[in-house]
Amino acid sequence: TTRIVLASRPHGEPTAENFRTETVATAAPGEGELLVRTQYLSLDPYMRGRMSDAESYAAPTPVDGVMPAGTVGEVVVSRADGFAPGDVVLAYGGWQSHAVVPAAHVRKVDPATAPVSTALGVLGMPGFTAYAGLAAIGRPQPGETVVTAAAAGPVGSAVGQIARQRGARAVGIAGGPRKLEMLRELGFDAVVDHRSDTFAEDLAAAVPDGVDVYFENVGGRVTREVWRHLNLYARVPVCGLVSGYNATSLPEGPDRVPALMSSVLTKSLTLRGFIQTEFVPTHHDDFLREMGGWVADGSVRYHEDVVEGLEQAPAAFVGMLRGENHGKLVVRVAD
Ligand code: NDP
Repeated sequence: TTRIVLASRPHGEPTAENFRTETVATAAPGEGELLVRTQYLSLDPYMRGRMSDAESYAAPTPVDGVMPAGTVGEVVVSRADGFAPGDVVLAYGGWQSHAVVPAAHVRKVDPATAPVSTALGVLGMPGFTAYAGLAAIGRPQPGETVVTAAAAGPVGSAVGQIARQRGARAVGIAGGPRKLEMLRELGFDAVVDHRSDTFAEDLAAAVPDGVDVYFENVGGRVTREVWRHLNLYARVPVCGLVSGYNATSLPEGPDRVPALMSSVLTKSLTLRGFIQTEFVPTHHDDFLREMGGWVADGSVRYHEDVVEGLEQAPAAFVGMLRGENHGKLVVRVAD
């Protein structure tokens, strides 16, 4: 088994020294477990949180521990009822070529329904995050305006397309012309480049009727600009704050909390943070049915950014936090 472990905790942006590649003997599965050969592993922003020992909603990855990741792979050895060699499963296998996982924590993936890598993206955790955050918190109504940043990533691109399925107008914010073109192809009604010098003006022009749902993925300057346009009773599902994940201190400047709280009061805003796992019991069946249908009939589409080889995972992960990925970032570990 080849695996990548957390060698040390990063300060700011992770570097090559924070990761170490190891080769170890492949473990044998115990009763109720599977040995899975990784085909795809998912790279997601939350992994930056696991590299840190700051307090969070989940325990940190221990130093020398395997970097965590959702994976899609093929069962090699099964010691669990209902699984056989050759089955393709979604597991939490981590950054490694083979993983022993409890069968109770995996889900079978049907290669006939959709490409298996979609179980890590549009039909997996990120797509579900978009679906549940909108269903439970954003609740877009026909004719309303829904804004999302990180719009070319798997969460944001699903937010915009689901909002359109609900009859709302979707506005996507992303970095650079290539991502804006991707968003137009996905059917976003308006697109805005947050790296442009005219970002504030472009955003204002894109939301002439204000903003009813701001799906918060990034924080920072993008949030400050969107905030000016929030309508009375706007809803803000607080999903992620990726612009700050490598930050080592609070931003400079005046205390903005009083102005923020004042806007919450005077505009009757709803801000509600969430971790997608909260909504699995209430929304996951609906997600698989509804999103599965939209993907199958082409009304929701997706982009994948496939990196070849486990050894590329650290650089690809750091690049994602800088915005270098175009669509859902996955590593192809083996065929
Ligand atoms: P993406 O593939 O969209 O990758 C992150 C993107 O963030 C980058 O590509 C970059 O795109 C954008 N970004 C980075 N820095 C900045 C910045 N300073 N300002 C604006 N945009 C920036 O990631 P995902 O779709 O997987 O995740 C999106 C968000 O959802 C993240 O915050 C993640 O943590 C969160 N999330 C939360 C979950 C939950 O349960 N609450 C579950 C899953 C994801 P660009 O070039 O467009 O700037």
